[in-house]
Amino acid sequence: MELNLVKPDSQMYQFITATFNTCKGKCYHDCSYCFCKAMAKRFNHPQQPVRFDEKEPKTNLGNGNYIFVGSSCDMFAKDIPDEWILKTLYHMDKFDNKYLLQTKNPDRVMDFIHYTVITSKCDVCTTIESDIFYPDIMGNSPTPQERSIAMNELSGVVDTYVTIEPIMQFDLNNMVKLIKSCHPKQVNLGADSGRNNLPEPSKEKVLRLIAALQKFTVIHNKTNLQRLLK
Ligand code: SF4
Repeated sequence: MELNLVKPDSQMYQFITATFNTCKGKCYHDCSYCFCKAMAKRFNHPQQPVRFDEKEPKTNLGNGNYIFVGSSCDMFAKDIPDEWILKTLYHMDKFDNKYLLQTKNPDRVMDFIHYTVITSKCDVCTTIESDIFYPDIMGNSPTPQERSIAMNELSGVVDTYVTIEPIMQFDLNNMVKLIKSCHPKQVNLGADSGRNNLPEPSKEKVLRLIAALQKFTVIHNKTNLQRLLK
């Protein structure tokens, strides 16, 4: 398979050069705002049960890339067999790249931390859309508190990132505390780009959050945040 390069007009982080997805189909976390879910609905193509795509580990991942792994289905969700994760990590390790493992279940990354591909080639990122757990929106995802606790542990061994996207109503003090505890090298902020009718914070509140986060980390605003900052 061909390496899936990120297109210039994509909603993907601008610092990512390609994506790599071995696990495909319906993601266990079932977030209401999931882009893949929306695409499946739009094209009237129901999501299939999750599976491992055997063709993907034949992809030449190149060298010098920064690759987002698991952009269409969370590879560390609890229904993904260990074997699928190991096959993915084994293939990643053959190439001289950096990888971003983004997951809402960072606790499971700890189960694989003894594989040097993770400690030498991977950064780990989690999404914390809010400090508040919204069950109707976050589905089966671990709570933001659980994600933060796992990221705190991971930050002792790998570089950590946090993505606040799609940003939702939050308690400023709790939100800053949760994110600070992840020791993020960088925090990415983005807003809902799918008209999912989410509870969104005001421009002033977003700016207060950014000011508080800038005291201890680097902020990367995604272009879709501009809608809330007008
Ligand atoms: S974790 Fe990501 S891929 Fe999985 S349902 Fe949520 S938004 Fe979709």
